[in-house]
Amino acid sequence: MRIDTLYIENAAADRPLTEKIREKLQPQKTEFIDDYQDFFSRRKTPYLQKRSERNLFIALKRGALLRIAPDAYGFGADDLHYYYIHAYNCVYECEYCYLQGYFSSPDLVLFVNHDEILREMKSALAQTPHKRVWFHAGEFSDSLALSHISQELPLYWDFFRQNPHSFLELRTKSVNLSMLRGLEPLPNVIVSFSLSTEVQAALFDREAPGVMQRIEAMQRLRDMGFRLGVHFDPIIYREDFTEKFSEIAAPVADRIGFGAIDYISLGVVRFAKDVFREAKENYPDSGMFARHFIQGEDAKMRYIRPLRLQLLETSQAILKKHGCPEQKIYFCME
Ligand code: SF4
Repeated sequence: MRIDTLYIENAAADRPLTEKIREKLQPQKTEFIDDYQDFFSRRKTPYLQKRSERNLFIALKRGALLRIAPDAYGFGADDLHYYYIHAYNCVYECEYCYLQGYFSSPDLVLFVNHDEILREMKSALAQTPHKRVWFHAGEFSDSLALSHISQELPLYWDFFRQNPHSFLELRTKSVNLSMLRGLEPLPNVIVSFSLSTEVQAALFDREAPGVMQRIEAMQRLRDMGFRLGVHFDPIIYREDFTEKFSEIAAPVADRIGFGAIDYISLGVVRFAKDVFREAKENYPDSGMFARHFIQGEDAKMRYIRPLRLQLLETSQAILKKHGCPEQKIYFCME
């Protein structure tokens, strides 16, 4: 991966992972800095600059290391859901990605203080011994795309092996399985893939692997014994949506099978207001704006409710027709 400048926080310089990450990179130059925020947050870099220039920071995550996930974020409505932040930003460029309005820079940040994140997880488990607790990765960066560089997954494996009643979800669009190949499948670790119709992915998931490649990666993981999840999210309206969704539900059913899939979420495209504005600026001709969006009570920009329900119910019906048990399907963030 081409890196223009590698910035290393002084406080992160002697962390064991920092050296391992450096061995994987060949930056044009390396600079040591006191605080990554001085460069990452305080100088506004246009999102699409990621196409021509890419800097990477190795830093310590400060502030909240775990965050409570929003309602209807994960499978298991009665369970507790947290997400943790192992990195900021992504090597892919999905047109709907909320990262484009979220940070003031598209540069990559890899955090290396996983020991502190794991301590927080331990304390979260101790505080709620009677609840099923999930920890989700992939909220601010794809959880597998750079995993061979960030190399933190073995640490999480140790934790979830020792805490078999808590769950880890790795959310991804990546087919980079190199780290997972070296780790044994655990029953409480779920690798979940974002899927969509092939035409939607071809139109909007720039730089990301195609949907059939993701399904092949799922097959390989299933054969290795990994538990899987699927997120059909975001669903973007097209006139031929029903036909195209049936075309992708079929290989999910036939090539992977719902026995290996613990859950499937369905979510319709939505944007925070800032992201909506930024996405329109970045992709003014994008077909994802073909249908009208309205601002909901939660200030998010969405399709009108009847259209959202139609898309969700159509997708659910198609999955059920292909043999997916209804209890494995949930609607995300509705
Ligand atoms: S894979 Fe996820 S994080 Fe990466 S660009 Fe696409 S939506 Fe954003």
